[in-house]
Amino acid sequence: MNGLITVIGCMKCGRCDSVCNEMALLRIDGIVRIDYDRCTQCMRCITACPNKALKLLE
Ligand code: SF4
Ligand code: SF4
Repeated sequence: MNGLITVIGCMKCGRCDSVCNEMALLRIDGIVRIDYDRCTQCMRCITACPNKALKLLE
């Protein structure tokens, strides 16, 4: 798959904490970072984020 998940404007709410089956979602000082070596672009985190902080950049 192509593309990267971008994180802009993470509000540190934690709603996405348990949705990633690949353990690709990291939180550093509360702000989400993506481990691109693990991420499969499954989109689960994008759907879970109520703040639209996660987007697929194609
Ligand atoms: S797109 Fe899927 S695999 Fe990638 S970080 Fe989000 S939940 Fe995890
Ligand atoms: S759900 Fe969105 S705003 Fe909340 S911690 Fe995850 S990326 Fe950040």
